[in-house]
Formats: sequence, structure tokens, C-alpha cells
Amino acid sequence: MRSVGVCGSDVHGYAGVNRRRTPGTVMGHEVAGVVEELGTGVDRLLPGDQVVINPIVSCGECEYCRAGLENVCPNRRIYGCIAELPGAYADSFVVRATNCVFFHGPVPLEWGALVEPLAVGTRAAKQGEVGERHEVLVVGGGPIGIGAALASRRRGAQRVVVSEPLAHRRELAAGLGFEAIDPGSEEVPRGAFSVAIECVGHSVTLASALDAVRVRGTVVFVGLAEETIELPATPLMVGERIIVGSAAYSNEDFRDTVEWVASGGTDLAPIIESRVDLDGLPAAFEGYADGSIDALKTLLQFQN
Ligand SMILES: [Zn+2]
Ligand SMILES: [Zn+2]
Repeated sequence: MRSVGVCGSDVHGYAGVNRRRTPGTVMGHEVAGVVEELGTGVDRLLPGDQVVINPIVSCGECEYCRAGLENVCPNRRIYGCIAELPGAYADSFVVRATNCVFFHGPVPLEWGALVEPLAVGTRAAKQGEVGERHEVLVVGGGPIGIGAALASRRRGAQRVVVSEPLAHRRELAAGLGFEAIDPGSEEVPRGAFSVAIECVGHSVTLASALDAVRVRGTVVFVGLAEETIELPATPLMVGERIIVGSAAYSNEDFRDTVEWVASGGTDLAPIIESRVDLDGLPAAFEGYADGSIDALKTLLQFQN
């Protein structure tokens, strides 16, 4: 194991905010590492290979898997999210060879641990069919929002605005070349965007995303802060706006994101704001849970 990202969903599970993790689960699903040992019959990998782990185990047989939509496979399971598939907050990690994706490029291997959250953004921009000449609003400047903003730019969007209440995260978004606005003090321009990518998932953030897109514009819904939220009916119906969900990433989205991260085309170093070792990990969880840490991404680092 080399680097493992601390994910908001892990912190929520730890804090008991939702039931997406059960006690006894070894968490850690944002993983970059080096192959140490192979099981019998594995010939695609060699010890020493640098890999990123796609943590989704899909069945490969259902109609969705056959269509390349492993992210909605009804039989999918995720390493580090259930007790039966232990994750990578550990000095070694056993994983199916098919879930390993080669990470080759001029960038540090630790950037590989950013692939998983950034791939969620890759999927969201694809679901919104973001293209050239599009103006895109990203609601929420956390790792998923930053991933969606970066993916929108890769797809040719001419303007990408990130709406984020935390000053520190706005600065980070601005440093990556995006316009950043504070929804608490600045008016989000109404009807100004072709696509809004909602990465938070509250009633108020969905409403602002719907307000921000023009007639027949699209809101991509990728946040999941609450199980049930309000839906403003008028902009949806009268303006023929579209809301589309976006879940995790397909295998193709993941591979595309690995290639882009490894290519070094974008400097992703600013996203990694904190590093801890295994002994420091509990304090990082406590800090995220009580709000005293707001590092965009903390990585668990191993010395080897
Ligand atoms: Zn995650
Ligand atoms: Zn399937």
C-alpha cells in the first residue's frame, strides 16, 4: 500500500451519520499502491507494478455490466465499504487482479489515490453531457465538485464556476483556474448556465442549481446529503429543465480518469492538503467529523 484517501463517506460512516458503513468494516477505497504478490493464475500484473484500485466489484453478467454500466450493477459491492471486502486502511490489501488499473506517468504515485473521487466527477460531467461552449456551475467545492469542474474543463466547457461556502475551498478552486463564488454573499446568476452539477444534495442546493440553469438546461444530481429533499416543480416543468442522477463511475470512467491523472496534464498537488500515517488516521477522522479539519483531501501515507 502506498496512499489511501480519506473519503467523506468514510467519515460519515464513522460518525454514524448514515448506515453506509457497518461496524467492523476495514474502510479505505481510494487506493494507490504497488503490487507485492500475485495469486495463482494472474498473468496480467507483475510484482512492483504501480496500480490504482477501482474499488467496485460488479457481476459482469447483468444487462448493465454488459452495457458498460458497472456503476449501476444491482450486484455491485465496494472494497472498503462492507465487512466482506476489507479496504486499504491497512499496510497490505488483497484485491482482485481485475480491479487493478496500471498507473504509469510522470506524476507521483500518491496522485493515484485521487482517482476514485475525481472519477465520480468524470461521470457527473458525462451524465450532464457537458461539451464545448457550455457554461457549467458546480455546486459544492469538495473533492467531487473539484472532480466535476476539472472534468467539465476537459470536456471543453468554456466557463466553469464553483459555488462553495468555505473560503479555503474557494481559494483552492480558484487556484485550479475556476471562478469561485460564495453562495452566502454572492448572487448565483439565474438562468446563466447550460449545466449545473449539484454535488451537495440538500433542498437549498438543488433549488439553486435549478435556478442557475437556463431553459432546457440540465442539473446533474451527484450529492447525497439527505435521503429525501424538496424539488422545486416550477423551474423543472415550465422551463423543461432536466435532472439526471450520477452514481460513482463505470469502469471506462475510472480508466479515463486514471489516464488523465497519470498524464500530469493538470497539477493536482494542491488537492492533497494533509498526509497522515496509520497512527494519525483516527485523529484525522475525529477532525473531519467535528469540523476542525477542512483539508480538501487527506491521504494515509505508508513509508515504503
Ligand atoms: Zn470515496
Ligand atoms: Zn452486473
